[in-house]
Amino acid sequence: MSDRKYDYDLFVIGTGPGGEGAAMQCAKGGMRVAVAERFRQIGGGCTHWGTIPSKALRHAITSTMTALKNPALREMGINTRPSLEQLRRGTQAIIGQQVTMRQSFYDRNDVPIYQGQARFVDEHSVSIDGDEPITAKHFVIATGSRPYRPADADFNHPRIYDSDTVLEMEHKPTSLCIYGAGVIGVEYASMFRNLGIKVNLINTRAKLLEFLDDEIIDAISYHLRDQGVVIRHNEAMESITGEDDGVVLQLKSGKRVKTDALLWANGRSGNTEDLGLENIGLVPNRRGQIPIDEHFQTAVPHIYAVGDVIGVPSLASAAYTQGRSAGMHMLGMADGNLRLHDIPTGIYTSPEISSVGKTERELTEACIPYEVGQAQFKSLARAQITGQTVGMLKLLFHRETLEVLGVHCFGANASEIIHIGQSVMSPEGAPNSMNYFIETTFNYPTMAEAYRVAALNGLNRLF
Ligand SMILES: Cc1cc2nc3c(=O)[nH]c(=O)nc-3n(C[C@H](O)[C@H](O)[C@H](O)COP(=O)(O)OP(=O)(O)OC[C@H]3O[C@@H](n4cnc5c(N)ncnc54)[C@H](O)[C@@H]3O)c2cc1C
Repeated sequence: MSDRKYDYDLFVIGTGPGGEGAAMQCAKGGMRVAVAERFRQIGGGCTHWGTIPSKALRHAITSTMTALKNPALREMGINTRPSLEQLRRGTQAIIGQQVTMRQSFYDRNDVPIYQGQARFVDEHSVSIDGDEPITAKHFVIATGSRPYRPADADFNHPRIYDSDTVLEMEHKPTSLCIYGAGVIGVEYASMFRNLGIKVNLINTRAKLLEFLDDEIIDAISYHLRDQGVVIRHNEAMESITGEDDGVVLQLKSGKRVKTDALLWANGRSGNTEDLGLENIGLVPNRRGQIPIDEHFQTAVPHIYAVGDVIGVPSLASAAYTQGRSAGMHMLGMADGNLRLHDIPTGIYTSPEISSVGKTERELTEACIPYEVGQAQFKSLARAQITGQTVGMLKLLFHRETLEVLGVHCFGANASEIIHIGQSVMSPEGAPNSMNYFIETTFNYPTMAEAYRVAALNGLNRLF
């Protein structure tokens, strides 16, 4: 399979989950693979300024604040307020572990890493930092994305942040305005509110996280408001002014919000600048994203693109699978079992949210006769024991075939719980059935038991 005409069979640009998925799939498949990374360490935005640091910080905040709320600690007179620096301390260690582990994957599979900015010289060669071109038969562009920055906001102002710079925030503000209520905005709203910071969440749309099931949207909206987050819908930014004592957000509706700091979380742009795309005839869209077909091939068929650089769903989980899928296509393998169209959503708010499959809205629009089964966490023994009683599991199923069509969950560990339902949904045909949940003995007490409770609840509605 190897074509000695080129230095490599595959050259991957970017070492985030998208690039790693493609590189490992192809290296295991016998291709000669190399990767380029412009950051000083491998792992991508996922490891260094996205998924991993944000989730590590979230864990530090939740566990510390839960401990501090323990009445026994209060009785002992322990009433301290951790600094952001203290809460962030563990993050670097986790990032270090991730980098070491991922580096070992490249080492073990003999995949060299070229450090520097990769630019296409022509359709079969890239140059790293202007060095001698490296040639390859195939390429994968997995260069990720960065926060979109409106031209008229001053991101050098010490009180104005985006999702990359917020991780370095030094002083804990007493109030924070978050502009943009997508997944990143809502997750940070929840996190900072848990720290006791007054949060204003400005949404440019009519509802939070519109792609979710309506009942879950209602639940997260209720819980965020209940925790004290002020949410404004249907707003648009007029101007952002950084002042010595705060930041003023002027909205087109005439409202003005002044807070200690502002986090801009509205939109992302694909990392396609300075990649030499003009030398290979590829034109990114206005968000800097590269158009691809169903095999992740760009308009130049031996050049693939995966991950955030192609746009939604912009998840680390999806990027890795897309990378593998592109690799399989290069190897001439079918990727039919990768279920690329059934990517679950995990949103790490408090309460956590996760879903897979269709929403009630989608099923209703498609006139599919479905039924709903629900389990409230408060009725589960495990939730009562752990005190994590806020939450619900909701199963949507076909009322004639009993096929599971959608699983929606909010509450503690929702992003783990969802995968039980996803496993049952995955095989097509008869094995995907609500009967699995009522014919299976679940450990007791567990959160997984919610599936049996929800299934019985739903099946009892049938007539
Ligand atoms: C705050 C935040 C929280 C998130 N939380 C989650 C979550 O909980 N779950 C989840 O699934 N996803 C989450 N995401 C999204 C996730 O991080 C991204 O979807 C994922 O990192 C995309 O992977 P990627 O491989 O496409 O790109 P990246 O991980 O961004 O990697 C791209 C790499 O390419 C390198 N690069 C770019 N251009 C070049 C070049 N020309 N030459 C050489 N190297 C280059 C970059 O330096 C980078 O290392 C979060 C994102 C953010 C910002």
